[in-house]
Amino acid sequence: MKCVICGNESHDILTKKLRYGNRIVYYCPKCDYGMLEAGFEDVSEYYDKEYRKKYKDELTNDQEESPKEIYQMRCRYQNDRIHAIRDFFDKEKSFLEIGCSAGQFLSKIRDEFGYVAGIELSKKCAEYVREHWNIPVYSEELSQIKWNGEQFDYIGFFQVLEHIENPRQFMRDVHDRLKDGGKVFIEVPSLNDPLRKLWKVDAYEQFYYHEAHLSYFSEKSIRILLEDCRYKVECIDYIQDYNFLNHLYWYFNNGPQPDCVFGLNEPKIDFKEDREDVQEAGTKINELLTETNRKYFEILAKYKLTSNMFIIASKI
Ligand SMILES: [Zn+2]
Repeated sequence: MKCVICGNESHDILTKKLRYGNRIVYYCPKCDYGMLEAGFEDVSEYYDKEYRKKYKDELTNDQEESPKEIYQMRCRYQNDRIHAIRDFFDKEKSFLEIGCSAGQFLSKIRDEFGYVAGIELSKKCAEYVREHWNIPVYSEELSQIKWNGEQFDYIGFFQVLEHIENPRQFMRDVHDRLKDGGKVFIEVPSLNDPLRKLWKVDAYEQFYYHEAHLSYFSEKSIRILLEDCRYKVECIDYIQDYNFLNHLYWYFNNGPQPDCVFGLNEPKIDFKEDREDVQEAGTKINELLTETNRKYFEILAKYKLTSNMFIIASKI
């Protein structure tokens, strides 16, 4: 398969098994980049109808989540992103988020910029953001929106680039929508995820690859892509989402926890004891877990072994 980053022909294979179903993820050793052969005929249709049904936060629940449920589940986990862009808050600047989902991020930064807008292909979510947060949302792909020369100071997309069939073209389209000197904020899953590279959990290897993720980026591949598309990479932060106890769970059970809530929060054990002196021990143990988790995340970041990379780059 031809690498969409460097054009190199590669026959190396990362996996033949995805979370659901069998497909091949190829690997370009030149870019340290994984790519799934594209498979959707109509991207807008897929994200409007299929995607949320299939990939929910609750692995056991068959119902499609409503925008409100998506918002409530996800709004607690925006702190790393908000922290990463805090230095850029400016009432004179505009911010566009591509793939804004139910507005869990945009609603929190809305008042920090002069103008914010979103793009979201799920029509239900787009409508929810317009109605609940009074934020303008486009529900077409970036390249299909009829722009009247509008440009933004900042464009952010979190857990989006890995879904894009042609990331090179997408980064060029984003470039067109950025003002001179404008910046992009990008969060992508990392190929060097700790459960793959460090813990090497067998079942996670299959869980990690899924049909909606067409790209698997490393620091090297994201740098090549951005530099080729005329961006200057300013910094890459290594951010971990799931906690230390979630990783231990994977390690000992060779499978995921039933939902994402435990893993995405500070690790806390719900000790059932009601005697006061024993309760105190529970509190101390939970403090220890929180501190251990903080150090664990620091180690992962230092060795670039986190689940996600957060990239800030400017238009040149
Ligand atoms: Zn390549």
